[in-house]
Amino acid sequence: MNNNRKIPLLEIKNLHATINGNKILNGVNLSIFPGQIHAIMGTNGSGKSTLSKIIVGHPSYTLTEGEILFMGQNICELEPDARSHIGLFLAFQYPVEIAGVGNEDFLRLAYNAKQTYFNLPVIDPLDFHMIMQEKLEMIKMDPSFLQRNLNEGFSGGEKKRNEILQFALLDSILGILDETDSGLDIDALKSISETINQLMLNKEKSIILITHYKRLLEYIKPDFIHVMQDGIIVKTGNADLANILEEQGYEWLKQLAE
Ligand code: ADP
Ligand code: MG
Repeated sequence: MNNNRKIPLLEIKNLHATINGNKILNGVNLSIFPGQIHAIMGTNGSGKSTLSKIIVGHPSYTLTEGEILFMGQNICELEPDARSHIGLFLAFQYPVEIAGVGNEDFLRLAYNAKQTYFNLPVIDPLDFHMIMQEKLEMIKMDPSFLQRNLNEGFSGGEKKRNEILQFALLDSILGILDETDSGLDIDALKSISETINQLMLNKEKSIILITHYKRLLEYIKPDFIHVMQDGIIVKTGNADLANILEEQGYEWLKQLAE
């Protein structure tokens, strides 16, 4: 953990957002410094996914007030792909459902889109294959996985692992993992947590883990836990907060939101 730096990696100030005219976020404040792991917890419908989508620029949501700074730059006007190229990653993003697209081809397209954005050369399939081998080894993923079609018949664990592979490959600086633990059995959860912990050995990177359950946070230790309720963060604490939430639920926090 490193919180000595003056500029947060991500700084969210008084963020308000709507979808179809419905107010969903009501003044979110959040600062994340390089190397930190933040967890966001909260009941269904409290606005966690909305927050993650608005950070990466999902077009369905309207930002009505406040701002989002990434490495000091206001990114509110940036297109989603530009946000991705400068280092924001949301696990499970848009192009993933193109039928008949091989996983490796998809990853190469994503990788080359970033190369092009930074005026770097496009990588041909052979060279890309070499880059992939290195990443696969790092995240302990079976290479046969690359030859399959994207998302076709992937198990829950494989889908999640594939998202982590994208995070590693794109070398994103801030990863937002929205319910990475949902639908995973205990072995898959452990194994994916180990991979995430390994990626986090790079102290420049930060992650936001969105989760309902304390289980994931037993494997990946957050520096901070935030609880969302009705579109704002009502409570922030350290890793111990997960135990309190597990024992007492979210009800006692209701009054804090009012
Ligand atoms: P969480 O991820 O914490 O479960 P969400 O961010 O998905 O919560 O949803 C927050 C609130 O926004 C919920 O009340 C949900 O019904 C509402 N919401 C999300 N998407 C839409 C939508 N497309 N249209 C209307 N309301 C929506
Ligand atoms: Mg959600």
